[in-house]
Amino acid sequence: AAKAQPHSSIKVFEPALLYARRLQSVMITEMREAIREDQLTLHYQPVVDLATGRIEGVEALVRWNHPERGLLMPDSFIPLAEETGMIVDLGHWVLRNSVRQLRQWQQEQQVDSTFNVRVNISTTELQNLELIEHVRDILRETGVDASNLIVELTESMAVNGGDVDQYSLNGLRRLGVQLEIDDFGTGYSSISYLRKLPVNVVKIDRSLISGLGTDEQQRDFVAAVLHLIHACGLKALAEGIETAEQAEILREMGCGSGQGYYFGRPAPAADIAALMSRRT
Ligand code: C2E
Ligand code: MG
Ligand code: MG
Ligand code: MG
Repeated sequence: AAKAQPHSSIKVFEPALLYARRLQSVMITEMREAIREDQLTLHYQPVVDLATGRIEGVEALVRWNHPERGLLMPDSFIPLAEETGMIVDLGHWVLRNSVRQLRQWQQEQQVDSTFNVRVNISTTELQNLELIEHVRDILRETGVDASNLIVELTESMAVNGGDVDQYSLNGLRRLGVQLEIDDFGTGYSSISYLRKLPVNVVKIDRSLISGLGTDEQQRDFVAAVLHLIHACGLKALAEGIETAEQAEILREMGCGSGQGYYFGRPAPAADIAALMSRRT
């Protein structure tokens, strides 16, 4: 066995770091190309009114159709896009294309005037001072009403939110865009900011929903969370609903909206249009 060498770890660390840097710069180049050459694509997942079963909107979820590696899921490239700042361009692309898609559905009369599209916005995007102007331009260009756009923010960002974040959140609200806290209950929870942040909707994380139907205590817990959300005057949406039983429990507990594989997986725009015309 090799004798312990005090500095050996550094020798291993350096090439690894260099490799990571190289990989990053390759990814940056590739991501630029992806945006320019339309390798990105959006899938949409229905959001359902639990009381009526009506599809009230969709969430746009980005995928990357990589020329060599196939369809990449956001978890495999969003973190790096955030680290490298590419998320700003990527986020612009997502906003522009999801709002344009909504416009197209409106023009084809696939959806009514209340139908909304949800877009995920990461911390770095929120800290970009051009975000508000960008959103305003997209709404103006498409003629889509601001109230039909819902921006989803993660809880961690909302909690850590500094002045710039507040600036962006308030600016979006002034435009008339709705704000939603995503993944509520995933570890950054602070009850007090529910009242402080200018949000309209709270999306309860899948991890809280998955135990519903099997775990009696979990039911009480989710009921308490719903109570809290409603006490703050906010709307509740549950994500990760996978069974009819979970949907029914949530409906009974007064949760307004739901989303999950039970109602539909994220799918290309054409599939969503087909789903909507079947429903009506
Ligand atoms: P998220 O915003 O919480 O989105 C929900 C994720 O859960 C999606 O994964 C969706 O496919 C998945 N999901 C939906 N229903 C169910 C269900 O019933 N069961 C299970 N097991 N999973 C379900 P996806 O598409 O891989 O996205 C992962 C995350 O990547 C998103 O989490 C979001 O944080 C981020 N993301 C996706 N698109 C964008 C984007 O355009 N911009 C930014 N900044 N982040 C994005
Ligand atoms: Mg989301
Ligand atoms: Mg979520
Ligand atoms: Mg989530």
